[in-house]
Amino acid sequence: MSRAGDAGVPVVSVRELHRVYHVGDEEVHALRGVSLDIGRGEYAAVIGPSGSGKSTLMHIMGCLDSPTSGSVLIDGVEVASMDQATLARVRNQRIGFVFQAFNLLPRLSILENVALPLLYSGVPRKERLERAREALEKVELGDRVRHRPSQLSGGQRQRAAIARALVNEPSLLLADEPTGALDTRTGETVLQLFDGIASGGVTIVVVTHDPDVADRCRRVIHIRDGLLAGAAA
Ligand code: ADP
Ligand code: MG
Repeated sequence: MSRAGDAGVPVVSVRELHRVYHVGDEEVHALRGVSLDIGRGEYAAVIGPSGSGKSTLMHIMGCLDSPTSGSVLIDGVEVASMDQATLARVRNQRIGFVFQAFNLLPRLSILENVALPLLYSGVPRKERLERAREALEKVELGDRVRHRPSQLSGGQRQRAAIARALVNEPSLLLADEPTGALDTRTGETVLQLFDGIASGGVTIVVVTHDPDVADRCRRVIHIRDGLLAGAAA
């Protein structure tokens, strides 16, 4: 599996996804039959009301969660058929994930945070730090590498989290409400960063409940009550 993959094969493809959560005696049907292809180089927004299944879908596409039924293919390969080591490698090297709450490790500098995915992929320390520094320079944090997350603003933290998501040069960047914890102006700078990353050819899926955010994406996927509507490319 080369990084670029086959141009004709979707970066991620999901078929008839169902996800049922069990809470006490109750079943929550978060996804109720979602099928979707994300093509190489797409810049897509997933939009829908709170509780409609956006995060559930993103976690499954990012191989952070498994569906109750249905199939997930990353670069044409069925995730359920992968052994643990392969799945870990796909998650680490093919997919970058950006969360609303940044999810940086508080005791590490942002340089160390950004270098962490490279540790998991076995890159030697010197190269890890060099590449992490380069990734931080691309998000204009080259002058903050020694800072801890708590010493940065929200927008800077999210930019560091984006650098971490990109440091392994993934083929797919998934972002779940990346501006949800930011004020409008700071959110705008983060979105501009995504626009630039998309122009560079990285496939991006960004979840939002904000129509303004969706406006800048080339494709908008609507989700409601665990089902897609108007999802045609
Ligand atoms: P969104 O991101 O669109 O707000 P989610 O995917 O987080 O929606 O949630 C979809 C539905 O699944 C909601 O009804 C939510 O309460 C439920 N849900 C999400 N995660 C869990 C969980 N870990 N356990 C139980 N229910 C969950
Ligand atoms: Mg959510």
